[in-house]
Amino acid sequence: MGTAQASDVSNATQRSYVVRGEKTRSMELLLRGHCAGVGRTERHAAGATWYEERGVCMANETSSTSTPRVVRVGAEARDLIRAAQRAGLRVGLVPTMGALHDGHLSLVEAARRECRFTVATVFVNPTQFGPQEDFSRYPRTWDEDLAALGRVGVDLVFAPEVSEMYPPNCTTAIAPPRVAMPLEGQCRPGHFRGVATIVMKLFQLLPADAAYFGQKDYQQTLVVRHMVEDLNMPIAIEVRPTVRDPDGLALSSRNRYLSAAERQQALAIIRGLRHALELVRQGERNAIVLQNAIRATLIDASIRSIDYVAVVDPESLGNLELLAGPAMALVACRVGATRLIDNLRLE
Ligand code: AMP
Repeated sequence: MGTAQASDVSNATQRSYVVRGEKTRSMELLLRGHCAGVGRTERHAAGATWYEERGVCMANETSSTSTPRVVRVGAEARDLIRAAQRAGLRVGLVPTMGALHDGHLSLVEAARRECRFTVATVFVNPTQFGPQEDFSRYPRTWDEDLAALGRVGVDLVFAPEVSEMYPPNCTTAIAPPRVAMPLEGQCRPGHFRGVATIVMKLFQLLPADAAYFGQKDYQQTLVVRHMVEDLNMPIAIEVRPTVRDPDGLALSSRNRYLSAAERQQALAIIRGLRHALELVRQGERNAIVLQNAIRATLIDASIRSIDYVAVVDPESLGNLELLAGPAMALVACRVGATRLIDNLRLE
């Protein structure tokens, strides 16, 4: 499936795009202006396919071992993305800090389904960590990350050095939107300023059509969405569900810090959130009652270091007294030395 005959393409187009290996039928259709309706299965022919004159490389849908192209310089990544867009490809971006797990990979898969060129970033962003936080010991698992991104078929990995993103004379930062103020904003001063700044910088360097974020970091999705709206940035923000282990624990790069006993304890977070959902479905509308129920579940599991338990408006994160519609329940707490966050929509 997928490889069209060279005769399907005009000569001029062939000269521009046919290089080493095979070209794809979808690329040809795109070039002829038939973008809509090109089926996903038509997308890739054989192997990672290079379109050298335009500098576009697309990974093979079925390849299990292809190593994605890695770029460490922003301008180079931007050129590749622009080339993909000139070739008619929708570009999807998945920003990460590496230490990848299936939650990250689900975002890449969503981007792959909905975009024809997928870029993942791997960058542990120093400006979103507080001075007492775990920047220096944040897990860095580059070889495994690259292998995983190859397996899911990312087209390009942008993995800059800190000096590429923050040269010594870089002093500008983004003031995050109001929705950054409560919850994480209270507990981690400066965190969302760092997040907004790095996301803005990535969006400038990697001018994708859509960027994918996980609901796991719910407040972050709001911060990014509001920033993009407020600053009129031409990129679609896509949010995808939290991926959990079968027992309910939300996947997190920091879960690897948990001992077996702590991991058991951490299950109280999702237990509490699901209990609140159950109460809502039974008719409970009082936000304080719901918060107290979650808090009691955490305390029952001997989780005593609780940064917040909140049942709030899903858009503004403002406090609610009575639920009149959907609400978000959000938790941040420490299990042992590891800070975990999770959330569940209550409706
Ligand atoms: P991080 O590497 O922690 O900065 O996360 C990169 C992206 O992956 C963010 O958009 C996160 O919200 C998302 N993410 C992290 N954990 C999960 C998860 N368990 N399920 C879905 N998305 C996730």
